[in-house]
Amino acid sequence: MSSELSKELKTKLFSQKKNGYNSFKDLEKMNEFCDNYRKFLDTAKTEREANKVIITELTLNGFKPFVRGAELSVGDKVYIDNRGKAVVAAIIGKEDISKGANIIASHIDSPRIDLKPNPLYEDGELALFKTHYYGGIKKYQWTAIPLALHGVIITASGSTVEVNIGESDSDPVFCITDLLPHLAVEQMKRDLKTGIKGEELNILIGSKPYVFEGDDASEAIKLNILNILNEKYGIVEDDFLSAELELVPQFKARNVGFDNSLIGSYGQDDRVCAYTSLQALLEIETPAKTAIAVFADKEEIGSTGNTGLKCKYLSYFIADLAHYYKVCPHQSFENSACLSADVNSAFDPTFPDVYEKKNCAKLNHGIVVTKYTGAGGKSGASDASAEFVGKIRKLFDENEVIWQTGELGKVDNGGGGTVAAYIANLNIDTLDVGVPVLSMHAPYEITSKLDVYMAYKAYAAFYK
Ligand code: MN
Ligand code: MN
Repeated sequence: MSSELSKELKTKLFSQKKNGYNSFKDLEKMNEFCDNYRKFLDTAKTEREANKVIITELTLNGFKPFVRGAELSVGDKVYIDNRGKAVVAAIIGKEDISKGANIIASHIDSPRIDLKPNPLYEDGELALFKTHYYGGIKKYQWTAIPLALHGVIITASGSTVEVNIGESDSDPVFCITDLLPHLAVEQMKRDLKTGIKGEELNILIGSKPYVFEGDDASEAIKLNILNILNEKYGIVEDDFLSAELELVPQFKARNVGFDNSLIGSYGQDDRVCAYTSLQALLEIETPAKTAIAVFADKEEIGSTGNTGLKCKYLSYFIADLAHYYKVCPHQSFENSACLSADVNSAFDPTFPDVYEKKNCAKLNHGIVVTKYTGAGGKSGASDASAEFVGKIRKLFDENEVIWQTGELGKVDNGGGGTVAAYIANLNIDTLDVGVPVLSMHAPYEITSKLDVYMAYKAYAAFYK
């Protein structure tokens, strides 16, 4: 009797959060959603490609470019293309903008390997590219895997050349070489951070010389590469100075595990939140409050520059709406709410020491609500108020969203931030809500299908 009483009391008082599969049954919808998500990952491997795919989907769903001052009415769907690298999309709500907007902010840039402005050289009778990596990577993970080259080149005459090599089966790929173990005695003494150094991330791009009869031309291999590039793209060496060329893993998104329950892919941080929030936006009816989705660039290097969220393009857009409706922009900001949609780290049983088990996210436990980020005493954190967390918690529970809470790791074990702080700085209630990921920032990141689907459900509930 007493043990039954204690069981009853425990059920009543203890947290009842469990693996999501205990309650979630809509597997068919989840699998279909994730099949489409994998296709998105394969076509949106860079911020520019994600921008294009997002704008294509917006356009197909009736969104039009936002024109400052042009007539707007309830239910109108508009978007801003920020320099081909970031997007702001909105559906004008029934309430006027002084009542605030519901904003979801994700980012569409991912860690990768960028070419230097003067990349091409020949050494040891091979042609190579010099690079400068982008974002926080473990450099050794990027060697000896197939890489594809994506990006744009602006030629001297000002025309744009789009580059995408390595994704089609008939394309060549590129790679960063690593030392064979037999000769790596000294290299193996380096620590993981310096095992491969920044200046060792050189891309192998060719080996065949351009042969002139009777001429022992120097740099004949570099010449041959430039000749191929000139024939294919019409470019010369100096055109690399005005280019953005990015190397990304060539492999495609796949199901992972005998049970097909996981997704493995490059770039899930943070295109998983970009995709799920986009789908949520596309499917809502005209909302009460104006719904805004931001797909930002440059989060991985600190949200800097005019396509990152430290820039004011989001606040200018809200201010433009406020001016149009002749209401006070400040009021629009203070009444707005934002979900900062970015990934968090999932518990990895192979590396349990960095996690605090009671406060870390687990795969298949649903979308992660992170009250605060930051590191070392919450430094640099956006710390959402208990009131706002309470509001979102209630919303998710009422809409059968499976969710959990998670801190990035143990206190004083590192940490990180998202765009949340920059949006909170606009006087907007902001909370981090995203998908848990294994092997974050690696060339191949892992998410769970249940969590991906819950992100979509959570974002849809927020917009409604
Ligand atoms: Mn992220
Ligand atoms: Mn990241």
